[in-house]
Amino acid sequence: MMVNSGKACLAPESFIGLDMTIPTEPIGSIPRPQKVITAFEQYERGSLSREEFESTCREAVRETIEKFEATGSPVITDGEQTKPSFATYPIHGLSNLNADGVKIQFADGHFRQLPTLSSGPFRYKTYASSYLEVAKKFTRIPIKQAVISPSALSLLYPAAGLPNYSQEKFLEDLVKESATDIRGCLDHGAHCVQLDFTEGRLAVKLDPSGQLLSSFITLISRVLDQFSKEERKRIGIHTCPGGDCDSTHSADVDYSGLLPSLFSLDVGSFYMQLASELDRRRVLQIVRENLHPPRRVFVGVIDPINPKVETPQEVRDRVLEASDFIPLIQLGTTDDCGFSPFGDDRSTARETAFAKIRARVEGTQLAAEELGSDVG
Ligand SMILES: [Zn+2]
Repeated sequence: MMVNSGKACLAPESFIGLDMTIPTEPIGSIPRPQKVITAFEQYERGSLSREEFESTCREAVRETIEKFEATGSPVITDGEQTKPSFATYPIHGLSNLNADGVKIQFADGHFRQLPTLSSGPFRYKTYASSYLEVAKKFTRIPIKQAVISPSALSLLYPAAGLPNYSQEKFLEDLVKESATDIRGCLDHGAHCVQLDFTEGRLAVKLDPSGQLLSSFITLISRVLDQFSKEERKRIGIHTCPGGDCDSTHSADVDYSGLLPSLFSLDVGSFYMQLASELDRRRVLQIVRENLHPPRRVFVGVIDPINPKVETPQEVRDRVLEASDFIPLIQLGTTDDCGFSPFGDDRSTARETAFAKIRARVEGTQLAAEELGSDVG
């Protein structure tokens, strides 16, 4: 009796030459169409029915995924079309919040303000897997899902404390909820789960002693401890200096204050802003000295804040530059940040975002071909 062996199923091309690829992934958000932003406003005001709101959202996700697929990106997202913002989606609509929380100050003078918790217990209202479930209906391409880091949400606890709900109890609940958020995405088949940790670099600015950053890293570690080694391979962490309305909050912070602590976290991947750094080679040297194998670093090769669309050749050169410092087996490419982490930021046109993503995909492929032929 003939039995098919596993080998016989392999395509002949698998045996010819070196099939060099460099993984490339987006960060997450794509600017929302105006109709989605308006629908959010109207729905909040009560002047749009739930059915109409959901239909507008669904159409935006469908159209965004279609355009994402057309870029050739091997991993895509839902463009965060229906996330109220990258940071506040789990708490949007909770009744135990006040509006007077931490202000995140951006270099151009504008700020974003987080709410504070007005009473315990702390529970998520929305888990990120709910976005993933919708997105999966529209594509077969691997989807990554971003979640907010527990450290960002730790800022919700008011400085004055809360009666009958200690900070310790709050952090215990937060660790549980953050782990549930990540696990839901893993269980629903996310290609990988990315913790958005924009406040990491900001922490070094707010507290140069490093204590705030260290408390953030400890909190994230507590969440990661809930996962097995295999599961943690599918978890990554994104660092950036912020990206909102074409401005940043901590681009002036030296990466040397952040990366050694960040890279101590036991995850599969890091997604770091690099394209817009003034001295990339210096930063890459810091990466080389602190990145432990087998962890992979996806370096930013696209600057979402710069309106100029990178050429594939520019992207290729940035990848080749990074490959001087990082072993290929640990290298990937990404965008420096999402294109619109806050739901209402339309400073970048959707078409510009997709053109930049296309350049990332093509440029990464060009670099892979060049590096592959070097090896061969
Ligand atoms: Zn970012």
